[in-house]
Amino acid sequence: MKALLINQVESFVQNPAPLQLSTVDDPIPGKGQILIKVAVCGVCHTELDEIEGRTPPPHLPVVPGHQVIGHVIQSGFSASKFKPGERVGVAWIYSACGHCKFCLSGQENLCDYFQATGRDVNGGYAEFMVVPEAFAFFIPEVFSDVEAAPLLCAGSVGYRSLRLTNLKNGQNLGLSGFGASGHLVLKLVRFQFPDVQVFVFSRSEQERYFARELGATWAGNFEDTAPQKLDAVIDTTPAWKPVIEALGNLKSGGRLVINAIRKEAIDKDFLLRLDYPTHLWLEKEIKSVANVTRQDVIDFLELAASIPILSQVQEYAFEDANQALLDIKKRNIHGAKVLRID
Ligand SMILES: [Zn+2]
Ligand SMILES: [Zn+2]
Repeated sequence: MKALLINQVESFVQNPAPLQLSTVDDPIPGKGQILIKVAVCGVCHTELDEIEGRTPPPHLPVVPGHQVIGHVIQSGFSASKFKPGERVGVAWIYSACGHCKFCLSGQENLCDYFQATGRDVNGGYAEFMVVPEAFAFFIPEVFSDVEAAPLLCAGSVGYRSLRLTNLKNGQNLGLSGFGASGHLVLKLVRFQFPDVQVFVFSRSEQERYFARELGATWAGNFEDTAPQKLDAVIDTTPAWKPVIEALGNLKSGGRLVINAIRKEAIDKDFLLRLDYPTHLWLEKEIKSVANVTRQDVIDFLELAASIPILSQVQEYAFEDANQALLDIKKRNIHGAKVLRID
């Protein structure tokens, strides 16, 4: 089959085309696994973190991609959840141990043996992939393939982030960064919490315009002060300056939720501007979001279908995956990016 491979950890600046289109053996479904013919796969900033070594794949080469929509071709031994031809999705969670204290308490996202799709095992930037059937999801019919793909990471992890803010209707929410996840969270908030005002921070005028179009009360740059204090902020940026600025915009007792698997080091100096009375005093909190549970994905897909939340998508051909990543690197973002594979 054709697959795009990460062959080595390297800088995007030195090699702007790090994914290599290769021919590799077709995967074979093992016990409890299904074989999927991939239709589309969403593109995520995490692919950059893998390639640039902030969260390096443990084995190389690896096929990246963790927002996979495809159809079941074959079920392995003792796999019976899906019928051939059924449409399924695969998210960032590829497997977890199932018996540790985290797995047994609804926190499989924190399992020590958590395996991530497209980092720890091969993902969806390929014609076929295998996945344990217990970690594949039914996809509601209301979504086309390209609309569904971004729901599997940008949407589901955004949903988890929103839950972790403890936001209540009538409060103020900040969104720091407005890419694939931000635009889906804004759509979700407008439905779930109709009286919440959303304040968006982005360095891109295009993203700010997009945010206002989708119903944000206000959109400004990171260093701008929001016109009202915020009960919670979700940060999806790869940088540090937005963290400090977000803390400054929080109300007393407010919470900043960082939805980023890793932060880049470029502006780490900005952390020295942290002023305890301005940014942390008065019981402000910071919480990160790690991975996602299957229940997050299931709950979000159901909620998104009932609204419905339709992703704004930019489609790329399979061969143009490097361009899609470069566009994310340059923050040339408008909604979510999806590769069309078949
Ligand atoms: Zn992702
Ligand atoms: Zn576990």
